[in-house]
Amino acid sequence: MLHNYVPAERKTEVSYDLSFLYGEDHGGFCFPCDATGKVLPFRYEEAERNYEYCMAHPEEFETFAEVMRFVNRYTEPAHGTCSCGEEVELYDQYCGACQCPKCGQWYNLFGQSLVPPECWEHDPAEEEYW
Ligand SMILES: [Zn+2]
Repeated sequence: MLHNYVPAERKTEVSYDLSFLYGEDHGGFCFPCDATGKVLPFRYEEAERNYEYCMAHPEEFETFAEVMRFVNRYTEPAHGTCSCGEEVELYDQYCGACQCPKCGQWYNLFGQSLVPPECWEHDPAEEEYW
């Protein structure tokens, strides 16, 4: 069994862009911001220069400094810590099971330890007892 088992979870992430658009299909600029339109810290100097340009030229944009909201829904897979210490993400790697990338231990999607897949197969040698 995995330690610290965390079941799969549906997540919703909301993000905002401050948009400056030239008009239909003519592109423009978008800057990550918070819900109030406050621009988040710039990662690149060029982005900051573009933002300053946009703010200084409102006449160029059909859409000026409008906050756009984006919703991203995704499933964070179940995960936990293997007995070897490795953090294992549980996904359907093979027949609803997956393997620890470090030590090779197999787990089902509930984090229960499994014997390796080669032991799951029916052993044809047993048929000889029929
Ligand atoms: Zn492991």
